[in-house]
Amino acid sequence: MVKNQEYSLFDDVCEAVDNAASYVDIHPGLLDQIKFCNSVYKFNFPLKKEDGTYEVLEGYRVQHSHHKLPAKGGIRYSSYVDEEEVKGLAALMTYKCALVNIPYGGAKGGVSIDPSKYDVNQLERITRRYTSELISKKFIGPAIDVPAPDYGTSSREMAWIADTYQAFNPEAINAKGCVTGKPLSQHGIRGRTEATGLGVFFGIREAVDVKEDMDELGLKTGLEGKTVIIQGLGNVGYHSAKYLSQAGAKIIAVAEWNGGITNEEGLDIEALKAYQNQNKGFKGYENGAFVENSKSLLTLECDILIPAALENQITGDNAEDIKAKIIAEAANGPVTQEAERILLKKNVLILPDMYLNAGGVTVSYFEWLKNLSRVSFGKLEKRYDRRKYENLLDSIEKATGNSFTQEQRELIARGADERDLVNSGLEETMVNAYHHMNGVRKDKGIQSLRTAGFIVALERIAISYMELGIFP
Ligand code: GLU
Repeated sequence: MVKNQEYSLFDDVCEAVDNAASYVDIHPGLLDQIKFCNSVYKFNFPLKKEDGTYEVLEGYRVQHSHHKLPAKGGIRYSSYVDEEEVKGLAALMTYKCALVNIPYGGAKGGVSIDPSKYDVNQLERITRRYTSELISKKFIGPAIDVPAPDYGTSSREMAWIADTYQAFNPEAINAKGCVTGKPLSQHGIRGRTEATGLGVFFGIREAVDVKEDMDELGLKTGLEGKTVIIQGLGNVGYHSAKYLSQAGAKIIAVAEWNGGITNEEGLDIEALKAYQNQNKGFKGYENGAFVENSKSLLTLECDILIPAALENQITGDNAEDIKAKIIAEAANGPVTQEAERILLKKNVLILPDMYLNAGGVTVSYFEWLKNLSRVSFGKLEKRYDRRKYENLLDSIEKATGNSFTQEQRELIARGADERDLVNSGLEETMVNAYHHMNGVRKDKGIQSLRTAGFIVALERIAISYMELGIFP
């Protein structure tokens, strides 16, 4: 993939905000304040290589909005990282958090490297140095700005960040809340790794359950038998595919940067992922046809197309050829504004990124709350609830003379643990946000769910500024 120098994700996001602003009664000065990035920190730092040479790396952290604090958003390691990309991704975080009602401003960070070209020791040094740069400028902290994983980073990098922050702030009792997406042993939370994919699943499930919307697309409601194509089988793509297959959808193609795979009968996602992990690609996988030019898979016939890799994938160049009825944006910014105009004319339903991939930050929020309270969800009430329901079941048995099976008892009396509560909170968030956004779309008589999502977000952010007394 070659970076398109003309394209700016930040400009694209601003254009989408402007479209939505025409439906909102908002002071133009306030709109500008919302749109612009509040703080942009760009820095360079050296990496000393084992052979004694140095490489100077470029790092970023952008806090798009401070209307709520801390600011929140992932850290990306990719050679495509530049100022425009990080600004665009930070802006998307602001609108995403506002849409799903998570009390954060938006932020994003990154280092412009291809992480596959560095070994683990080098990645650790890069991450720790990146973190100390943020600490020295007060660009990180549980009340200031809280990073998380993004493209090219994972719980491993988050553990290094938390450890570095703690070393510089040994007396800060909330230090572990300086970053989310940490490993479980490092004060992470159950369900964070799969959260974005599970959120994608909940979002698509809600969308395909609305009969009048499916009628317009000529589709039946429900996921059973729906054909799906996914771009990117990383953490988000893999988990989305897994939950969708479990619900009866058929994954007929998966596209990766180094080739794709198709199978009209449906791919076994677990087997495919295991093969990819071992072989670093799909070439040679037996239960499917390998396709060298994976981008061509995006234009195959299917019900749902899920771009789950990077931004700028469906553009003015290929939008006309897209045959999917629904595009579910698991990645950030995969469909450009130009492409969206073309797709809307073709009556494609686009589930926008700011909504669909909000599961990650939602569960990050739960992790941060857990870190601040220093107790895991369910710990206090799990046994109490179980005992209460056991007593209730006993009373029912006594009163009716019937008895419950062990299986029924287990199902009814089981107290909720951390994972149950995290998944319940995530489902609640995704379900409510979808129907709110879709309701606004219908009330205002607009076609684009993205515009409706931005309307909801803009109104919430504007109220926050107005109630601070900063704008009329
Ligand atoms: N990187 C993820 C996103 O783009 C998660 C951010 C977070 O958890 O703070 O939404």
